[in-house]
Amino acid sequence: MPDVFADLVGQDEAVDTLRRAAAAASAVLRAAAVAPTTDSDGDGSDALAEESDGPPTSAAADAGAGMTHAWIFTGPPGSGRSVAARAFAAALQCAYGTGCGACPGCHTTMTGTHADVRMVVPEGLSIGVNEMRALVLRAASTPSGGRWQVVVISDADRLTEAAGNALLKAIEEPPPRTVFLLCAPSTHPEDISVTIRSRCRVVPLGQPSPDAVAEVLVRRDGVTPDVARWAAAAAQGHVGRARRLARDPEARKRREAVLAVPRRLTGVGAAFDAASALIEAAEAEAEASVAEADAAERAALETALGAGGTGRGAAGAIRGAAGQLKDLEKRQRSRATRAQRDALDRALVDLAGFYRDALTMALRAPVAPVHTDTAALAGAGAQKWDAEGTLRRLEAVLECRTAIEANVKPRIAVEAMMLALWKG
Ligand SMILES: [Zn+2]
Repeated sequence: MPDVFADLVGQDEAVDTLRRAAAAASAVLRAAAVAPTTDSDGDGSDALAEESDGPPTSAAADAGAGMTHAWIFTGPPGSGRSVAARAFAAALQCAYGTGCGACPGCHTTMTGTHADVRMVVPEGLSIGVNEMRALVLRAASTPSGGRWQVVVISDADRLTEAAGNALLKAIEEPPPRTVFLLCAPSTHPEDISVTIRSRCRVVPLGQPSPDAVAEVLVRRDGVTPDVARWAAAAAQGHVGRARRLARDPEARKRREAVLAVPRRLTGVGAAFDAASALIEAAEAEAEASVAEADAAERAALETALGAGGTGRGAAGAIRGAAGQLKDLEKRQRSRATRAQRDALDRALVDLAGFYRDALTMALRAPVAPVHTDTAALAGAGAQKWDAEGTLRRLEAVLECRTAIEANVKPRIAVEAMMLALWKG
């Protein structure tokens, strides 16, 4: 396995910061081992305290200067927030350096089996308070591997308010060896509460350049350079999306269908048809992505509950089971809704790219197109609509994204957008 930061594309500055922090964290552990008397229980709990009274005096506190117990990784979708957090978790568990990639600490963290690293990946629209309380409780235990307990929360912007408060309490009074790594689009108060933000160090990630994305597709995924360059541009800096476009024919087909929308808008009826097609495509994509997990979870739960059992105990078990099944179904619906929104959002980003191309052409801006394969079509649109009409269309797509994010019913938002795209 290569260095744990190898998959973090085009984020040199962030990698630098994280490596220094991991080195500082190791120094904290060494200092605590050498001088266990620096705090009463000998676990190094003072080492990461940021708000100590007066200047740090112990060796452990000096050593800990580059490290802190709570971090937020921010950046646009696809920039690698959770990749960065996982790599940093591995670097903290690394036995030999700052993320060698070869030792058991690195390896188990990267493959998701390290006993002291918890990855929270919310599948629904929000992370609830019960989940968070359980997590905080487990995170407070002593690390079994003797280094750090690391909790990675991959969409911290989806915390419910109550869950956020439970997390805040843990961050305010951190267990001695626990590190929280939060990922969110930004540190805007809508994404992360101001009080949590004030307790964390922020690692901002930028949108990686198409060249950097193409390079990693070639090196890591064995994609040919031509396809890699096309996919990197079409994905607009989203590394995971670029990989899917390069490798998954279904993803390419869906993108083509979306990019065919502008030339299909010939009237009101066509606009409504296009809206239906877009919504249904997102639903189908989402369903395909969650169907397997849904069935597996249901089967596992039914087995655990002993479905099909008979006899005196079975009736009571089934009554209890009904509640658990209901819970599961609720979680699965929430996950399906999230998957649908994500699929629809990907389509809207592709569509926005098309109108952005048309706009740069209308303005004769010397910028490479996002979608090289529909550049001619975008050029024709630019001539027909002129710059102002093109800009209005681009804005209609962006407004649709904003509306859906603000919980407007997707069909209503998409229909409004299609009409605006047709009328201009
Ligand atoms: Zn290692």
